Amino acid sequence: MIIANWKANGDILSNLKWCKFFIENCPKEIISNIGITPSSLHIGQIKDLLESFEVKIGIQDIDSDGGPRTGSISGEMAADIGCDFTLIGHSERRTLFKERNELLKQKIESAYQANLQPILCIGETLEENKQGKTMDILKSQIEEAISNITIKEDFIVAYEPVWAIGTGITPKAKDINVIHEFIKDVVQSQSSDNEVPLVLYGGSINESNSEDFFTQINIDGGLIGGASLDAEEFLKIVNIYSRLITQ
Ligand code: PEP
Repeated sequence: MIIANWKANGDILSNLKWCKFFIENCPKEIISNIGITPSSLHIGQIKDLLESFEVKIGIQDIDSDGGPRTGSISGEMAADIGCDFTLIGHSERRTLFKERNELLKQKIESAYQANLQPILCIGETLEENKQGKTMDILKSQIEEAISNITIKEDFIVAYEPVWAIGTGITPKAKDINVIHEFIKDVVQSQSSDNEVPLVLYGGSINESNSEDFFTQINIDGGLIGGASLDAEEFLKIVNIYSRLITQ
C-alpha cells in the first residue's frame, strides 16, 4: 500500500488539480492499494472527486473519544464521512502534541469501535538511533499501543524514523528490511490471533530512492509526505511500486 500524507497542506483548487492528474494517470490495477490522507476539512472534497475510484481515504488522526472535546474529531465521525482508515501516532503528533503510547492505544480502540482501519506510526529519534536503542523503542511503542487489544488482520504499522521525516536522509533499504521483520515479529507475538501486519516505510521517500525500498521483502509499501503533495511526483513513486508488485 502507498499512502499520501498531506499533513496541513492543500486547498480546494490545488486538491482539484491533484485529483484530476491522479485520475488521469494512476494505473487502474493499483488504485485500491493507494490511500490519501487529506486535511480533515478536505476529506469530503476528495471523497467526492474520487468517489468512483477504489482509492482509500484516511484521516490523519482521530481523538480517543467523542462528545465534549472542543476541536476534536472522533473515529465515529471519520467513519461517518466515509474514511477507510486513520493514521495513529504520527511522529508529529507524538512530538508537537505530546501524544503518548497510552493515548495511542485508546485511539486504536476507538478506531476499531468505529470500524476504521488503524495505521500505527512508530519510529525512533536520531539520538535513540545513535544510542543503538531503535529496536527497544519500537518494541515498546508497539507493545504499549496494542497490549490487550485484539488486532485485526488489516492492522498496518508504518515505520518512520523521526530523523528521516522531511530531512532527505534515509536509512539503508536493507536495514529497514531487518527492522520491518522485527516489527512483524513483535506484532505477531502480541496478537492473540497470530496476525502479521503489513509494514510500510515512511521518511523522505522520493522517485529516486523508492525502488530500493520497495524491492525489499519486508517493506510492504510507503507512507509519503512531501513527495505526495505534487501529484506528478507521487504518481512516479506509485508507478515504481506498481511495476514491482505486479512483476
Ligand atoms: C511523513 O511525515 O509521514 C513522511 C514520511 O514525510 P516525508 O515523506 O516528507 O519524509
